[in-house]
Amino acid sequence: MANDANTVFDLVILGGGSGGYAAALRAAQLGLDVALIEKDKLGGTCLHRGCIPTKALLHAGEVADTAREGSEFGVMTSLQGIDMAGVNKYKDGVVSRLYKGLQGLVSSRKITYVTGEGRLSSPTSVDVNGQRYTGRHVLLATGSVPKSLPGLAIDGDRVISSDHALVMDRVPKSAVVLGGGVIGVEFASAWKSFGVDVTIVEALPHLVPVEDENSSKLLERAFRKRGINFSLGSRFSGVEYTDSGVKVSLENGKTFEAELLLVAVGRGPVSQGLGYEEAGVAMDRGYVLVDEYMQTNVPTISAVGDLVPTLQLAHVGFGEGILVAERLAGLKPVPIDYDGVPRVTYCNPEVASVGITEAKAKEVYGADKVVTYKYNLGGNGKSQILKTAGEIKLVQVKDGAVVGVHMVGDRMGEQVGEAQLIYNWEALPAEVAQLIHAHPTQNEAMGEAHLALAGKPLHAHD
Ligand SMILES: Cc1cc2nc3c(=O)[nH]c(=O)nc-3n(C[C@H](O)[C@H](O)[C@H](O)COP(=O)(O)OP(=O)(O)OC[C@H]3O[C@@H](n4cnc5c(N)ncnc54)[C@H](O)[C@@H]3O)c2cc1C
Repeated sequence: MANDANTVFDLVILGGGSGGYAAALRAAQLGLDVALIEKDKLGGTCLHRGCIPTKALLHAGEVADTAREGSEFGVMTSLQGIDMAGVNKYKDGVVSRLYKGLQGLVSSRKITYVTGEGRLSSPTSVDVNGQRYTGRHVLLATGSVPKSLPGLAIDGDRVISSDHALVMDRVPKSAVVLGGGVIGVEFASAWKSFGVDVTIVEALPHLVPVEDENSSKLLERAFRKRGINFSLGSRFSGVEYTDSGVKVSLENGKTFEAELLLVAVGRGPVSQGLGYEEAGVAMDRGYVLVDEYMQTNVPTISAVGDLVPTLQLAHVGFGEGILVAERLAGLKPVPIDYDGVPRVTYCNPEVASVGITEAKAKEVYGADKVVTYKYNLGGNGKSQILKTAGEIKLVQVKDGAVVGVHMVGDRMGEQVGEAQLIYNWEALPAEVAQLIHAHPTQNEAMGEAHLALAGKPLHAHD
């Protein structure tokens, strides 16, 4: 086993987030000698500042909503308040258990784990802590950090990023969230559940703008009902500090005052000053460019995760990392179909999708070749029991496969697994309709939607 800096490793990985550690685990499993270099904490953004802590906050918010709304179910509950110290203890407990588990996994696979800030020193080596780690191959997986807008300084107090929002020790009275993408709407949703007066500002015409427009509209309706304010279609123009917080101005002249401003306008790659350009790696606006096998233009260097211009999702990082490990081990992995990657926004209600939108399908196949069907959760028993509203929308190529599944409603994220199989196996509506779905589940709505698209609706009008 390689355990010192003089060894030539099969693979040296820079960055121990979702992409880097998945590559390390799979490569080691396949018998490769791996060094994994991480400057902060194994697990990266997803585990410490992303997926896991945000979902814990959202779950705490769901508990708060349940307490607040108990009487709607005949259960006499009330919400006494949010103890942020308690919420943080719960959230941090989840993170630290997973962190321990991941550390154990990495050490059990005999991966050489190096703590320190690394820099690519040649196409086959990374320097860290004054030592050189040389590999037959190097994987760049340095991830991303929150971005801001030109002239908008994040001070960590009144103007914050998601990193700050996750470690707050108080519930703000009010907040403006700049950006109506996944991260923005998730924080807006959790904060509203905690009782915060929230306003989202999105420059594009819709919330979650990369989703099918139908999903955006359903989410906007649900947020309106929840009392989450939003302003669409006008860009941010400036922020001033006031006695009690901030005053945010938009180009259309509107202003919003709040205790704080959360900047959630996206994330940018971590690649500056790390030796990538010097080693000849082709880049575009800080992103490392790769082919469909995640290989850069330098044959000994690959890159994965948020550092490359693919979907910024943890499971995409996992998939890309595994692909690199398998390729280096001599297996023949197939390139990733990014349309087939499930996407979930865990706000209340959830938004989930796989495949392409109706608009994209019309572009690709022609407007007259695209058929859609929307199944309203109003007809689904379990959704009624949960008191949730929403839809499952299917996009089908006429007489062909389902190429898009777009869902809005509580717990719809859990339905994306079947939707993923439908899209990736190019299922015909009639084939899915043949499968019996359990009653009463929300999953049944997936079956009902396909029954209808196959021309034999059950709990839906013809
Ligand atoms: C608030 C929020 C919520 C999110 N929620 C979800 C979600 O629900 N589902 C989902 O799929 N995705 C979610 N994401 C996205 C997900 O977290 C990222 O896509 C994922 O973490 C990317 O993995 P990565 O390995 O590319 O980068 P990262 O996780 O950022 O890891 C990169 C690692 O490299 C290390 N590093 C950087 N430079 C160096 C260096 N020079 N030397 C050594 N180490 C270095 C960093 O310390 C870091 O640990 C969320 C992100 C955020 C911010």
